[in-house]
Amino acid sequence: MQKLKYERPYIKKLNTGMLNKFASANPAQAFDAIEGIPVKKLIEQYGSPLFVLSEKRIRHNYRAALRAFNTRYPKVQFAWSYKTNYLSTVCQIFHEEGSWAEVVSGFEYQKAVKNGVNGSHIIFNGPGKKREELLAAIENNSLIHIDHFDELYMLMELAASSSTKPRVAVRVNMDTGLYPQWDRFGFNYENGEAWNAISKIVQNNKMQLIGLHCHIGTYILDVAAYTKATTKMCGLAMRCAKDLNNPIEYLDMGGGFPSNNVLKGVHLQSADSIPSVDDFAEAITTTILNFGFEKDKLPLLILETGRALIDDAGYLLGTVIANKRLANGRRGTVLDFGVNTLFTSFWYDHQITPAQGTSTHTEPMTLYGPLCMNIDVIRENINLPVLDPGDHVVVHKAGAYNMTQWMQFITYRPAIVMIAESGETHLLRKAETLDYVDEMEQTPELTKSKAVEK
Ligand SMILES: *Cc1c(COP(=O)(O)O)cnc(C)c1O
Repeated sequence: MQKLKYERPYIKKLNTGMLNKFASANPAQAFDAIEGIPVKKLIEQYGSPLFVLSEKRIRHNYRAALRAFNTRYPKVQFAWSYKTNYLSTVCQIFHEEGSWAEVVSGFEYQKAVKNGVNGSHIIFNGPGKKREELLAAIENNSLIHIDHFDELYMLMELAASSSTKPRVAVRVNMDTGLYPQWDRFGFNYENGEAWNAISKIVQNNKMQLIGLHCHIGTYILDVAAYTKATTKMCGLAMRCAKDLNNPIEYLDMGGGFPSNNVLKGVHLQSADSIPSVDDFAEAITTTILNFGFEKDKLPLLILETGRALIDDAGYLLGTVIANKRLANGRRGTVLDFGVNTLFTSFWYDHQITPAQGTSTHTEPMTLYGPLCMNIDVIRENINLPVLDPGDHVVVHKAGAYNMTQWMQFITYRPAIVMIAESGETHLLRKAETLDYVDEMEQTPELTKSKAVEK
């Protein structure tokens, strides 16, 4: 038997109104391996910090979400939201599973083309599409989701001189009972702009209006919001068919399903309080099925789910740099990754666990990153066993929006590996180096004549 580490006796302050040490799950439980691969070994091989993705989990999540919808509705298509995680391998896994691509910029559009996605299976969203990007999308037969009237007029102009009729959808925003309302993308439903845009497109006759799109928010915990959104979308689709004789081929309900992460400020959130993809699927599909479309004229249902498909397939491994006492006596622990690497720590209280055996004595502490910036706080308050410098930690559910929103700031961005279904690990992205960071810089000879110390 392994000899336990000596720990000095301690007196623990109990705060009234706070959970005591018996009331919550033991956070000291070590999480020392991901799918059988020791955390220590991964860090030795690829360095720290390190992002780790699980191929198995990604495919599992995708298949479960698809099943939730296609067991309830006959025509379902997912489109992978590139901005959630656009590593080529990740996108290719989703495409291999049958997912189209959902992109929100010219850059993401190019990535989808490079990943081999058929142009007609690329959904082009976003408020900032440029003329030449729209032209490429028209030529490739992509699905262009119009965000505002200026884009609509530019498209009309491009369509007039194009041999292919652009395939377009209108992005609609609306009151779904979620506040603050997301009304900055697309055309508003309640004030009539959405219908205005729809009838302009149909009457213009140079474009094919084949879809309607909405994306009502993100990390939505209210299933009823989707029922409201779906009802309004179906109403528009029905009017398109009846009043304009322009049946709609697809309804794209966007993304927005929550992952099972813990949002900041939500007290005692648990897995029980987060609706499942099945709950959302039930709300959306029954609304469409009961709306009154003729059986052979049901629209294709498109979903652009991002976060919920990949968050729990990603981990961030890191290492403890130091411990300190703060002015109020509280423990502060400094880790080797900060908010530049784990961007989602601004919104989430990420679950963080030690990666090696520890005692059951835990202490409330604040986890800092290595940046010389006061905002660099990974967790304001977490109960963990005392960690020594050199110990490793695992951040859970870090797969969505980190490997795209991370910043090259003060430190290099770390490597990303994937644990394949076969159990092998593969490097997906190398850790950055000085050469990489400097690659785009130019150094004009401004400093030449001055005394520069060499
Ligand atoms: C970001 C985004 C998504 C994905 O959203 P999630 O909340 O991650 O599911 C889908 N569609 C559009 C238009 C988006 O901008």
